[in-house]
Amino acid sequence: MAIPSVHPAVSGGHVDWARIRADFPLLQREVHGKPLVYLDSANTGQKPAAVIDAVDDFYRHHNANVSRAVHALGSEATEAYEASRRKLAKFLNVRPDELVLCSGTTFAINLVAYSWALPRLKAGDAIVVSRMEHHANIVPWQLVAQRTGATIKVAEIHDNGELDLDALYAQLTPEVKLLAVTHVSNVLGTVNPVREICCEARKRGITTVVDGSQAAPHRPLDVASIGCDFYALTGHKMAGPTGTGALWARKETLDAMPPFIGGGEMIKEVRFDGTVFNDAPHKFEAGTPNIAGFIGLGAAVDYLSSIGMANIEAREQTLLAHATEELSKIDGLRIFGSAREKAAVISFQIAGAHSHDLATLLDLEGVAVRSGQHCAHPLLQFFGVAATCRASFAFYNTHQEVDALVAAIHKSRRLLG
Ligand code: PLP
Repeated sequence: MAIPSVHPAVSGGHVDWARIRADFPLLQREVHGKPLVYLDSANTGQKPAAVIDAVDDFYRHHNANVSRAVHALGSEATEAYEASRRKLAKFLNVRPDELVLCSGTTFAINLVAYSWALPRLKAGDAIVVSRMEHHANIVPWQLVAQRTGATIKVAEIHDNGELDLDALYAQLTPEVKLLAVTHVSNVLGTVNPVREICCEARKRGITTVVDGSQAAPHRPLDVASIGCDFYALTGHKMAGPTGTGALWARKETLDAMPPFIGGGEMIKEVRFDGTVFNDAPHKFEAGTPNIAGFIGLGAAVDYLSSIGMANIEAREQTLLAHATEELSKIDGLRIFGSAREKAAVISFQIAGAHSHDLATLLDLEGVAVRSGQHCAHPLLQFFGVAATCRASFAFYNTHQEVDALVAAIHKSRRLLG
């Protein structure tokens, strides 16, 4: 069941995308009697058979708890789990012992909030958070601010959905201790220049947290070179199972942080007069982890690598270009976000149509888009809208599916009057 290092559909500079798509069983199904057009990958990605099989194989042949039992199954489970950590580390170009495995970005950012920020911040300190953050990169900072007396400052955006970098750098004054910014916006698709931003923050001694949830599935990543202090990601958006994710930080940063959750697996010795914690990253991994999920995530990383992240990014850019061109032709359709560097996410509204109504009618045509506020209320407040529809693409989508979305919008619109 080993995943080949190069996918058979990749040869020379060419990728047979139809063959890649055939790896995804769910994409073969119908919805409401129509072929499914799945355009909600920013929400969660679909899984290739290689990932589903890896999870299935674990439960059928290797299931045991990790890091506890000396029997054969226990060793196999531990080795497979740790192999996934190594694979993910290689994928991100970081060291395995600098990668905390956790349930996803939400947990990863909360870990930073409770273990790094809470013991350090105090009244008079400030946290800068960008306007385009997902709630997972806003609410934990609000909780820290409430408990420490620190304040939150908002890094604003331009109308095209790019960060106002001049204003951001001017905001990085001495009371700012932490800057939280997304690598790629889940609503606008904006790709932020995180390397430059982290460099500016570092010059001022400000700790940086980058939310990589929407970057890791879509572009080649070299986390070590970004220069951030923390990088969070979630596995289910990158072809892996739900309930998997990771937090990267330098070893010395992790070593200096107290554990966040206590329990088994995260200790060396427990006595009633004091407990010796395990080394990082294990001291942050209390309790039985989502072992099968991480084995699936290891397979997902192998799978994405076998296609090549540069190929994936290029493919998604062609889908974005096609969708932007075709959607822009629709009268009364407004696209939110036109950053110069943009990932394959298009949020839009149609004049006179409520986004939920539109998404419901699109669903009847088999087209799955998300509608609502996309866990980004402050961003929608900036644009003065209550909701948008969001079509988000992955490499397994096709240009015909873009056309199907456009046709379904025209049909829905007629129905909406
Ligand atoms: N950050 C961004 C930019 C996201 O798009 C998401 C998921 O939608 C999250 C954070 C939260 O990820 P999870 O729910 O997997 O923890």
